[in-house]
Amino acid sequence: MEATTFVLFGATGDLAKRKIYPALYNLYVDQKLPQSFSVIGLGRRELSDETFQANVEQSLRMFSRREAKDPVVLKNFVRAFRYSVLDVGRKEDYLKLLKLIEQQEAELRMEPNRLFYLSVGPEFFETIAANIQESGLGSANGWKRLVIEKPFGHDLQSARDLNRNLSKAFTEEEIFRIDHYLGKPMVQKLEVLQQSHPVLQALWGNHSMANVQITANEIVGVEERAGYYDHVGALRDMFQNHMLQLLMMLTIQLPNNSTSENVRFNKKQVMDSLEALNKEDVRSHVVRGQYGAGTIQGKSVVGYTSEPNIAANSQNDTFIAAKLQIANDAWRDVPFYIRTGKRMKDKSTRIVIEFKEPFVQAQSNDEDLTPNLIVFEINPNEGISLQFNTRDPQQQREFRPIHIDFHERGDNVPEAYENLIGDALHGDSTFFAHWDEVELSWQWVQPILDAYEENLVPLHRYEAGTYGPAESDELLAKDGFHWWFDDKPEQTIESIKGERYAYYTNR
Ligand code: NAP
Repeated sequence: MEATTFVLFGATGDLAKRKIYPALYNLYVDQKLPQSFSVIGLGRRELSDETFQANVEQSLRMFSRREAKDPVVLKNFVRAFRYSVLDVGRKEDYLKLLKLIEQQEAELRMEPNRLFYLSVGPEFFETIAANIQESGLGSANGWKRLVIEKPFGHDLQSARDLNRNLSKAFTEEEIFRIDHYLGKPMVQKLEVLQQSHPVLQALWGNHSMANVQITANEIVGVEERAGYYDHVGALRDMFQNHMLQLLMMLTIQLPNNSTSENVRFNKKQVMDSLEALNKEDVRSHVVRGQYGAGTIQGKSVVGYTSEPNIAANSQNDTFIAAKLQIANDAWRDVPFYIRTGKRMKDKSTRIVIEFKEPFVQAQSNDEDLTPNLIVFEINPNEGISLQFNTRDPQQQREFRPIHIDFHERGDNVPEAYENLIGDALHGDSTFFAHWDEVELSWQWVQPILDAYEENLVPLHRYEAGTYGPAESDELLAKDGFHWWFDDKPEQTIESIKGERYAYYTNR
């Protein structure tokens, strides 16, 4: 790999500690960092290099998936870390930074390749990009890259403004927009699975699928993020980015040996084919919810508007369920139901594909008969399960569901940030959000934002510890479907523990 200076804005922040340092450490242990590699951490507070290195070590002890206990390995790893004070708006700090980087590059005889990682609030992105350009930090002979974290804008217009300003300093090829869902190993597998597996390839699309359900349920409430979340809500925080990215990854159709460009081009095509809603249609396609008081895992919790720092009359959404349709040959007529919410009954991110009933099963009188399913478990467990019906050997006329499960587990599975930071260091943009995807996602979501703003969509309260408002169930019931794995604990995909097998053998 090419020599790299990793310039980290926000080096004293939460994301750096919990995700970025552990990711770099695990890449280092796996020998996936460049031979010549240095990190320059930036923040406003004064820290010596030694204190900064000690803080990095401390964060590894707390958050690394692999135990960071070998003092020699740790010492070698943190040796690459330096710290410099920088206030985002102070131009002289960038010149000081340039000097430090040039000095390091000369000492270590490194090519001037610089990756700028902005782990700071989005309000600073444009100022930092402009100062990188103005100070000369971005004009050395090597390459430069910019890594940014969502949110990329607050609505369509602000996203366009942000992109226009970033583009003055970095080209699209140089911008790596992190959507950490794209770093999750199961999501990355979606891309290759349907390409490389003949069974899945044969089943992929509207000829065999009845509907697709994408769920990301959280147990937690607003936590300490009130100031941020109350202006954002589930639609902006989860749906516009993570949920639509899952939809794109699931539905792209790629040629063999596809490149990063193929993936991005196909994702754009999916977004282009997504049937647009107008403001007036939103009410019939979208369910908007906010959690009330309830019980989660045996503990009483307050409702959203009683959370600290949330206004008693807040109309913010903590839940969304939506029905989407993709108007292309592969997916026309397959409804996609997408939902995400806080204070739900259990924590899970999964995709369930329900297949159309073959003729022979549709003829059966067995009321317990369940459709054939494929389930992609993304979080907290990772795995794929197939449920398909076959004849019961004892009762020849009856069908019985059987399961096949593939799971990966243990601390061998890299974390999303490891995958993404590794890719950014390599310059591989496959699993980063291209501007076209971001813009088209905001474009699709904008009528919903407008309809919310004008109160054209009711805000349904739901009890904490449930699966959202009843209207979310009705959204599917209207089409003759239901959400899979709700309120049927015995059906929950927990095959890692073997419980699901027990359920079906008991039947
Ligand atoms: P944080 O804990 O509040 O840290 C913010 C960092 O920015 C600190 O290092 C702070 O350093 C620095 N900073 C603030 N004002 C500055 C200024 N004027 N000049 C220079 N540095 C300044 O925030 P975070 O949770 O790490 O989040 C960072 C970014 O990642 C945000 O955009 C957030 O939306 C995004 N994100 C975070 C998470 C997460 O899990 N935390 C997840 C996804 C996305 P000093 O105080 O030393 O100046």
